[in-house]
Amino acid sequence: MSESLTCDVVVVGAGMTGAACAWYAARAGLDVIVVDRGPVAGGTTGAGEGNLLVSDKAPGPELELALLSLSLWAELAEELGKEIEYDPKGGLVVAETPAVLDGLERFAAGQRAAGVRADPVPADRLAGLEPRLAPGLAGGVHYPQDAQVMPALAAAHLLHASGARLLTGHEVTRVLRARDGTVYGVRTPRGELHAPHVINAAGTWGGELSARAGVSLPVLPRRGFVLVTEPLPPRIRHKVYAADYVADVASDSAALQTSPVVEGTAAGPVLIGASRERVGFDRTLSLPAVRALAAGATRLFPFLADVRALRTYAGFRPYLPDHLPAIGPDPRAPGLLHACGHEGAGIGLATGTGHLIARAIVGDLPDLTPFRPDRFPDNPQEARR
Ligand SMILES: Cc1cc2nc3c(=O)[nH]c(=O)nc-3n(C[C@H](O)[C@H](O)[C@H](O)COP(=O)(O)OP(=O)(O)OC[C@H]3O[C@@H](n4cnc5c(N)ncnc54)[C@H](O)[C@@H]3O)c2cc1C
Repeated sequence: MSESLTCDVVVVGAGMTGAACAWYAARAGLDVIVVDRGPVAGGTTGAGEGNLLVSDKAPGPELELALLSLSLWAELAEELGKEIEYDPKGGLVVAETPAVLDGLERFAAGQRAAGVRADPVPADRLAGLEPRLAPGLAGGVHYPQDAQVMPALAAAHLLHASGARLLTGHEVTRVLRARDGTVYGVRTPRGELHAPHVINAAGTWGGELSARAGVSLPVLPRRGFVLVTEPLPPRIRHKVYAADYVADVASDSAALQTSPVVEGTAAGPVLIGASRERVGFDRTLSLPAVRALAAGATRLFPFLADVRALRTYAGFRPYLPDHLPAIGPDPRAPGLLHACGHEGAGIGLATGTGHLIARAIVGDLPDLTPFRPDRFPDNPQEARR
């Protein structure tokens, strides 16, 4: 690219969120260019798991977005299901003690009132759902709406199917603004892309991109490790996790937290998560984190003690201080829309996000108040408190 290109919408970021934004914007009849400094799914999308969950969300705006997203994922699966390894397998949350089960059942009752299907599972019925679970668990809750995709495949296929033009290896160094502050495109070292709408789908780097538009957004990295086993025949039917995972997700602590999350994949390996800690963009392998993951998983599924782990990888969840993403137009920079900061739920929430962003662009303004990008103080230090 040497001269400038023109389109209706520039999407910055070719991860899961950017792909979904491109898909829904293209379906709304808009001419879309997606630009990424790396390859497709080279950011957090290529370093996470692909759970599409309502089970871990408390009633509120994130759960509403998850319910919308899950129904859109099911629609997408009709077109792309096989390619993206969509599996509506359901989730099973288990409690190790009666006290934890009490809390889990109260949480599930609130979710049911908000439209989630959450079916209590007494201890003696757990083995019927997951025959290889450890004995002695107090009980659980089954969430039939939870599903799974393979994130990198989902992003790549959705981008391709959207028909958007894709520019990889082009870093956006500046978001272009006219004298009156209106956004009119982006600059890369290889030329300019002109459009009346620019979408910030830069994930964990969404704060950096915002700064390149002259506005602030306090996105921080929240590191997570995943442990990957050797390929196995299907032995784990659902996404299975311990009830304390929900508290870890909602925690504001920067310290290491781990709670077992276990799932099989179409290709055979079992994925074991989930750790959370705020240590900047440090990729150093953390043995305490990985050991805690292995110990937690074998507590839930004792057979895993005899299975080899092949590798581990880390990614950086895009974390905003109130655990909600930034979605929608930025009143501080007309023409700029944000679609980032989805933390550990960006695969699941991508479809709803892309859908809402496309509606906002065509003027069918949804209520995006809880996700307003300008809801944080301009001083990032204050936002982090
Ligand atoms: C261990 C782990 C497990 C996870 N498990 C799940 C899960 O089970 N379910 C779930 O829903 N979520 C999960 N997540 C979270 C999920 O992976 C993220 O929320 C999601 O991938 C974010 O996608 P994104 O498209 O917004 O960002 P990214 O995938 O990071 O994409 C952003 C893109 O923007 C590009 N970019 C940045 N700056 C620029 C620039 N200046 N110019 C051009 N390009 C730029 C980057 O190169 C990158 O490709 C997990 C995350 C981790 C770390």
